Amino acid sequence: MPDFLTAEDIETLPKPKVRAHPEQRTDVLVIGAGPTGLACAIEAQKIGLRVIILDKGCLVNSLYHYPPNMLFFTTPELLEIGEIPFTTARQKPTREEALEYYRKVSEHYHLDIRQYEWVKTVNGEDGNFSITATDRAGRPHDYQTRKVIVSTGYYDLANQLCIPGEDLPKVSHYYGDAHPYYDTDVLVIGGKNSAAIAALDLWRHGARVTLVYRGTQLHHHVKYWIKPDLENRIKGNEIEAYFNSTVQEIGVDHVVINTPRGPLRLKNDFVLALIGYHPDYDFLRSMGIELSPDQHRPVCDPVSLESNVAGIYVAGVIVSGSRTNEIFIENGRFHGKQIAEDLRIKLRPGSHSG
Ligand code: NAP
Repeated sequence: MPDFLTAEDIETLPKPKVRAHPEQRTDVLVIGAGPTGLACAIEAQKIGLRVIILDKGCLVNSLYHYPPNMLFFTTPELLEIGEIPFTTARQKPTREEALEYYRKVSEHYHLDIRQYEWVKTVNGEDGNFSITATDRAGRPHDYQTRKVIVSTGYYDLANQLCIPGEDLPKVSHYYGDAHPYYDTDVLVIGGKNSAAIAALDLWRHGARVTLVYRGTQLHHHVKYWIKPDLENRIKGNEIEAYFNSTVQEIGVDHVVINTPRGPLRLKNDFVLALIGYHPDYDFLRSMGIELSPDQHRPVCDPVSLESNVAGIYVAGVIVSGSRTNEIFIENGRFHGKQIAEDLRIKLRPGSHSG
């Protein structure tokens, strides 16, 4: 993760006695500067509204933290926002090309993005919300806004195995580069795309890879050009795989997995638990947004995406709650237009809302 202050560091810094300076008033405040948040801001600006975007990290922070060599699954036009063409050298964009694209789009639309400002509280009511954010130095910043759009994504919060040893430093829920794993025993947990890609990449870079998946076989969502590749490596005993299996415990230099044939203790140097991510449900609840009981979907109007809290909209993957495979950049980017249409009606002169 980046070399700036962590949340824990920020908490320990002395707090200034006087609240931060020029407090900001805006029509729309977007929380989260991912592709969806940017699309929402662009569409709101296009109908003449003043918009501020806050993000606790950098611009498109999640994309920035994707594996450095990753290729998108999709073609560039499906990642476009604000009707700005995205062309790439090859058929599928690289992470670097996407970062460049979203920087250029932000510049083009003169988006007011306040990076490294972490929204802590959203209070007030439709037409008059107060937002407090904390910057990297722990200084508070206050904003007033008529409407709020929450597009906070899910990549910061990894699903947890909840097993002994998960908090050891050798365990990560994120895959970056293969090099540090060269000539080591790596356990990859999960059976979808991240796990499949990491297992292959690690093996190609000289790691000894074991894959553990609770399903009976690799998930059918694994892309058609990745699945047979991995299946062939497993068939050829180049990558060891345990299906219908779970990890019971992680130790400093071993793991114990439960297989259909009983528990198995394996020598281990690193564990990559690539078991997915989830939205920040507590943050959504803190604003008064209700979540559905099973899938934690925010209660919202399916067309306008206004939540049960009047004036607070939800956008992007958070709309699908724990079903994070339903909304991606490709479809989440259209949420901006849906929300802007509602804002246009509700904020037009003479309207009584907000
Ligand atoms: P994911 O699609 O949510 O898959 C998580 C995997 O972990 C699933 O196989 C799941 O098992 C397993 N799992 C979840 N909780 C578990 C637990 N408690 N114990 C054991 N196993 C558990 O996550 P992902 O593969 O990281 O993909 C996230 C998103 O990124 C997807 O939309 C994916 O398509 C996308 N992606 C894109 C690229 C790219 O563009 N290049 C690359 C990788 C991923 P079940 O199958 O049984 O549910």
